[in-house]
Amino acid sequence: MGLETDEKVVNYIRKMVAQARSVVAVLGIEMLVEGGGYDLDTNEETYRVEELYGYTPEDMLSTSFFNAKVERFFRFYKNEILTMEVNATPAYDALLKLQAQGKLSAVICQNFHGIPHGIRFHKTIELNGNINSNKCPHCNKLFDLNYMKNAAGIPLCDNCKKTAVRPNIRLLGERVNAKLMTEAANVCEAADVLLIMGKDMYNDRLEYNTDPSRSQLKILFSREQQLSERKVDFVIHDEIQLFLPAIV
Ligand SMILES: [Zn+2]
Repeated sequence: MGLETDEKVVNYIRKMVAQARSVVAVLGIEMLVEGGGYDLDTNEETYRVEELYGYTPEDMLSTSFFNAKVERFFRFYKNEILTMEVNATPAYDALLKLQAQGKLSAVICQNFHGIPHGIRFHKTIELNGNINSNKCPHCNKLFDLNYMKNAAGIPLCDNCKKTAVRPNIRLLGERVNAKLMTEAANVCEAADVLLIMGKDMYNDRLEYNTDPSRSQLKILFSREQQLSERKVDFVIHDEIQLFLPAIV
């Protein structure tokens, strides 16, 4: 399978990964899309969703919307977010290979769909929560994904009856968990190679290593042709699931 990236760059990155002691992968929306999900942040999707629900995904995935229009929130959430099937791709196999070599220090997941079923990493930091985890804000009872999917209309806590169960995902307008963010920043800082696998729907600025005395190779995977504002060594436009297996 031919890569768009120049062979010299591919070889250089392969060499750097082979020499690395610590690799950290930051999973973003492209990993979700390659696994069969879709990016709600594109113009097309935003338009489609707004036509259907009267609001944009960004409007609806917010705390204020959840609090004010919970019925509509769940109509969107159950139809669009919970029906999205995200599967493993060869990119995950490549990460598992790095893990088996003892190089993969951590996987930082920004998507709230989490790591696909059947894939196990030793250390995963889920910065923005996970749709599999749901909690009643009143009595703290926990609920699984099926409970949310199968509920007719708003998923209500079966203990409190009237309270809507809240997905343990970070909604827009909420701060990222400070402890998790610090943990993520620390593992990123210590990495020799940082694989930034797609964009982040929250547009957070996860701080990567900026210590000039330490060298770190930063590789951003992005299908978008525009240049990233982030300071990275390489921007790779190939699919992650094609590129990553070629370098590990
Ligand atoms: Zn409850």
